[in-house]
Amino acid sequence: MVQVVPPSGGQSGRTPVRTCLGCRRRAEQTALLRVVASDHTDPVPGWSVVPDPRRRRPGRGAYVHPAPECVTAATTRGAFGRALRRAGRPDTTALEALLGQDD
Ligand SMILES: [Zn+2]
Repeated sequence: MVQVVPPSGGQSGRTPVRTCLGCRRRAEQTALLRVVASDHTDPVPGWSVVPDPRRRRPGRGAYVHPAPECVTAATTRGAFGRALRRAGRPDTTALEALLGQDD
């Protein structure tokens, strides 16, 4: 597994490379959107995939191209659940809303 190491201070150097959950292509971390899981119990227990553009949220993160086709592919294959260690299908409304703004 690839360890996600948060940037510490003004470190420069090589840009980390991550794999997109949707198309499985490798890309520089800066070209991908970090997402994390957010658990909820209301209205029913479940979890959501929420975007983390600043890569600041704690916990396990995953990366996907900020493109609807990659999000759809990841959702269809259940890749978010595997990457974020959650069971069941996630709510991707927040993610889709973010991508929808990008024309
Ligand atoms: Zn992709």
